[in-house]
Amino acid sequence: MQDTDTHNTASNSLEGMAGPIPQAPKGHSGGQQVIVIGAGISGLCSAWFLQQQGYDVLVLEAGACVGGNLQTVQRDGCQFERGPNSFINNRQAMADLIKGAGLEEEIVLANAAAHRRYIGKHGKLIALPSKPLEAITSKILPWAGKLRVAKEPFVGQSAGEETIAQFATRRLGKDVFDWLIDPFISGIYAGDPSKLSIQAAAPKLFALEQQHGSLIKGAWAQIKARRAATGPKLDGAMMSFKSGLHQLMSTLADQLLNPVQVNTQVESVSYSQDHGYMVRSGDTIWQAEKLVMAVPAAQVARLIEDLPTPNEPQLVAAQKQLRSIEYPAVATISLAFEKGQIQHPLDGFGALIPSKENKQTLGVLFPSSIFPDRANANQHIFTVFVGGGRGHQAMQLTPDERLDLVLEELHSYLGIDGQPLWSEESYWPAAIPQYTLGHLQKVAEIDQALAHLPGLYLRSNWRDGVALGDCVEQAQALALQIVDEDVEDK
Ligand SMILES: Cc1cc2nc3c(=O)[nH]c(=O)nc-3n(C[C@H](O)[C@H](O)[C@H](O)COP(=O)(O)OP(=O)(O)OC[C@H]3O[C@@H](n4cnc5c(N)ncnc54)[C@H](O)[C@@H]3O)c2cc1C
Repeated sequence: MQDTDTHNTASNSLEGMAGPIPQAPKGHSGGQQVIVIGAGISGLCSAWFLQQQGYDVLVLEAGACVGGNLQTVQRDGCQFERGPNSFINNRQAMADLIKGAGLEEEIVLANAAAHRRYIGKHGKLIALPSKPLEAITSKILPWAGKLRVAKEPFVGQSAGEETIAQFATRRLGKDVFDWLIDPFISGIYAGDPSKLSIQAAAPKLFALEQQHGSLIKGAWAQIKARRAATGPKLDGAMMSFKSGLHQLMSTLADQLLNPVQVNTQVESVSYSQDHGYMVRSGDTIWQAEKLVMAVPAAQVARLIEDLPTPNEPQLVAAQKQLRSIEYPAVATISLAFEKGQIQHPLDGFGALIPSKENKQTLGVLFPSSIFPDRANANQHIFTVFVGGGRGHQAMQLTPDERLDLVLEELHSYLGIDGQPLWSEESYWPAAIPQYTLGHLQKVAEIDQALAHLPGLYLRSNWRDGVALGDCVEQAQALALQIVDEDVEDK
């Protein structure tokens, strides 16, 4: 569990609700009770979609507030995020959720300039090309690297599972890997691309090779298919909400008919055919026919300890697999400056720093440029990401030392003059799960070890994608799966 400060307690009052309360059971569930452990985006969305289907859902959350990683902070007239900053409107499940929760009017769209992204190279920021022709003149790749890309359609497929580094270097060459793929993977996983599995961590990229034999051919086929598609399309816009991403979490919690039980760390779970799942926190025990665990992998390992099994070694092996999923530490540091203190115009989404630059800083976001009204008119705020798979040294420092390091590392890229007006660090001891080689097999073995338990479901970002959109998609799919299973059982 993350160890960052909490800033808000879960409010379950109906006052100030942004949308309608889903109330009418739709008839599939017969009002069956479901317990969801964890009120991050995976757990809250699972609960919300299940309630939409008529289930009677209770969410138990260890922390003092709902939202998990989604934590919005208001400070000195500014608003920033400790964790995720925004999401892309490219998932139908997210669109359904926003509409169903009555949050459409609360959406804020990113400024047009936020589409510009920078890459750090030799101490300077270079804008990524936004059009194919600009790629030819861009200084991000050397000429040899650009020519190597032209060979990509003729590269053969690999037989075994590869890391992202192996896959990208084989298909696109070392320059593309070093200056483009490596920083993007750091931006998503804060991880080491020479450990992450292409199949598990970048399945869409892997699928392009599988289906089209080439990333370039596959990307082109996708563009053509998108153009030819009829019917309503998601616009792919970058978004947040007026009060930040936490607004989504607090709204969903407010709309649950059973108040989320915060400050409730689940300590153990047992199961029997007669009583279903017995979930214990302190002296309190809850009982339900169905249980969703939407918590980090190490917590799942602990919570499945007392579950009955016909194959004890298999359950122990699954616990070991769960504990082996790495979550490197990351710090996010938000900083405010007078505009005159920063030479760079910060006219974009942010900048990613490739490993080749030998920095502990992974990247920096420009929240006051991405969304309107996030900072005072004469100020910039930016959020720096440090640590992860390559920044172990930085994570051994004190927060003050880390701030000094980050300011020193960013100086040449941004042209920073003097000290920030304020800074605020959020330390994530276990930030983002790493889908390393063998991850898909690991997840399959965990599922297999628990397959004999009816009504037990595992969600959360350690299994089917780390993006917010993945978590929402999986939550919606779970609700539909449970409905289908119940219809079949009748
Ligand atoms: C710094 C950072 C930046 C990120 N940026 C982005 C981004 O820009 N875009 C993006 O798409 N994704 C981003 N992500 C990833 C994304 O935030 C996560 O993948 C997602 O929020 C995970 O949600 P979750 O509900 O699965 O898990 P969590 O948010 O970890 O929620 C799990 C919840 O379970 C609770 N819990 C744990 N154990 C127990 C227990 N025993 N009993 C009761 N409750 C328990 C925890 O307190 C927590 O609230 C970022 C992540 C981090 C850390």
